[in-house]
Amino acid sequence: MDHATDLPVLRGTGLTKSYGATRALDGVDLAVRAGESLAVTGPSGSGKSTLLHCLAGVERPDAGEVLLQEERIDQLREPKRSEVRRRRFGFVFQFGQLLPELPAVENVALPLMLDGASRGTAETRARAWFAPLGLQGKEASRPGELSGGQAQRVALARALVAGADVVFADEPTGALDRATGQDVIRMLTEVASRQRAALVVVTHDDAVARWCDRTVQVQDGRLLSAARPAGGAR
Ligand code: ADP
Ligand code: MG
Repeated sequence: MDHATDLPVLRGTGLTKSYGATRALDGVDLAVRAGESLAVTGPSGSGKSTLLHCLAGVERPDAGEVLLQEERIDQLREPKRSEVRRRRFGFVFQFGQLLPELPAVENVALPLMLDGASRGTAETRARAWFAPLGLQGKEASRPGELSGGQAQRVALARALVAGADVVFADEPTGALDRATGQDVIRMLTEVASRQRAALVVVTHDDAVARWCDRTVQVQDGRLLSAARPAGGAR
């Protein structure tokens, strides 16, 4: 195996974060490799979103380090940190994160245009995502005209179109019925693994976690276990 792909692409050590008197994260160590999918489960309020935000440079941890390909990113200031988020990371949220006034294809093209691609190039690359995700014919639809599952597939195309090293998904199936959620997590894990992106998925749903290579559980801001090995649903 290629040595470079054996190293974690993203690594958090000793991650600690408080909001006032609430210790949301309490010394978490976590690493993901390129092409690996990691599910983060745990009860509501246990610190899952805080962990994801610290790893993704959305929030700065109070203590600990975040390394992206062995380079620290937690100490970067804005706008450097937002540049890392934009260039290296992709995000899928529970709902509502597509721009409602833009057609689906422009939502997907946006990260490429923010990175300097021309509109034509960006839209051509964006368009190529639609048929493989079962979205043919939906290119011109506005998010409000899409079903929840279709909107999440557009969101996952947007997260991956620019070649992210790590994709973060916070309850990506939380607003979907079970069957639709299974379609979305299947496509998300497949596409991320094919692109060799690492995937970090926060979920309440064990059926979603089973699509991932590995699961960690968070409780009271700490990791309970790194229990289940590769295998599961695939
Ligand atoms: P989860 O995603 O597992 O539901 P969170 O990471 O959102 O948990 O929250 C962990 C703890 O931190 C909770 O007690 C929550 O109320 C608190 N918390 C999270 N974000 C904030 C914030 N911005 N301000 C204050 N408290 C917060
Ligand atoms: Mg959360």
